[in-house]
Amino acid sequence: MPLEKNTIFRMPWSKNDNPIGWLEVTDICNLQCLGCYRQKISGHKTLDEIKHEILFLKKWRNVDNISIAGGEPLMHPEIMDVVAFIKQQGIKPIMLTNGVKLERQTVMELKKAGLAGFTIHIDSNQGRPQWREKNELETNDLRQHYADMIYDIGGLYVIFNSTVYPSTVQYIPEMVKWAQKNIDRVHGLVFICFRTAPLDEEITYQTGEEIVDARHLSYASEVAPDRNITSYEVYDLIKEHVPEYEASGYLGGTWKIDSIKWLAGAQIGSKKRVFGSIGPRTMELAQNGHHWFTGRYLAYLGESKVGRKIFLTSFFDKYVRAAHKAYWKDLLRHPLHVFDPVFVQSIGIIQAPDIMADGTADMCDSCPDMTYWNGELVNSCRMDEYRLFGGFVTVINRAEKEKAEVEA
Ligand code: SF4
Repeated sequence: MPLEKNTIFRMPWSKNDNPIGWLEVTDICNLQCLGCYRQKISGHKTLDEIKHEILFLKKWRNVDNISIAGGEPLMHPEIMDVVAFIKQQGIKPIMLTNGVKLERQTVMELKKAGLAGFTIHIDSNQGRPQWREKNELETNDLRQHYADMIYDIGGLYVIFNSTVYPSTVQYIPEMVKWAQKNIDRVHGLVFICFRTAPLDEEITYQTGEEIVDARHLSYASEVAPDRNITSYEVYDLIKEHVPEYEASGYLGGTWKIDSIKWLAGAQIGSKKRVFGSIGPRTMELAQNGHHWFTGRYLAYLGESKVGRKIFLTSFFDKYVRAAHKAYWKDLLRHPLHVFDPVFVQSIGIIQAPDIMADGTADMCDSCPDMTYWNGELVNSCRMDEYRLFGGFVTVINRAEKEKAEVEA
């Protein structure tokens, strides 16, 4: 069945009430990912600047967690103090890292400082030494290394995110199956659909009336892919090969009525088998219930061992009911599976900004990754437009514009 936007739960997040706060501690990095939004301009922020941003997010955003990003945040010399300060504020600190500097000792120190978990960015277009010729499936070995190390230390959760390109989209179902096999230690996957600013002589980039040089943007490229992958496409692909997967929540676009910018789902399973997924009613309960009890919405479960309690929602969620049925069927065939713990594993799909006919962009509604910029919040994926040109850039395709004028 094709994905129908109106059958899943619209996440109730907003600018001032959003579970995620995005904090960039540095713009320095030790890799050069193809889909990166950030380039080195200003270096490490001071601890005072960082604390100011954390308090700003706490005051204006009502965050449940703060994603510590960059650049590569583990390159910041005071990263342990940053983690500890966020924790002191009663907020979950999450480290968004490429993992290059992630060694056992560092993980233990981060845990001691109060870290809740990691989102580790690994894909085959990062120019990683020793991994240059590997495809997405081969990089599972690297994911496995980090998942095992962090699991061994315990008490931290791990999500892996990957930018997906037309050339790598085919690997997604196998990546989901790899994550299913590791459901006890991999708490989620996120697929980010690659977007670029094409450098083409027919296209100009402007802030207001002023033409700007888009070559300075890290996401500008002379070799733009011939098509853009959408969240619908990724959903269909997973569904085709992994039928137990289902989506349950979404964030739409700021302009397009049918776009799905964030698509959230969560699978229920044990190490031996995935039984199904949660449905929109459980997602609604998780969001609104968490807000009712804690005053904040929820982005990360924080602990994968929700366990069999998840089946309680089968009273009102037909997807969980189906998963519960599959669980019992499995138990009848293999009674000893009763001792196997049950886990919940999230699957996220993000479709970054799309350019509209008038040159503006369809952004993520209630963007969860807004970050501090000069006393305001801006979408982190486009902050370099502010840093370089003072504001969002519009994209003018001269050929298309002239054609539209002739037609008019
Ligand atoms: S609009 Fe926000 S959520 Fe969407 S891709 Fe950009 S930063 Fe991420």
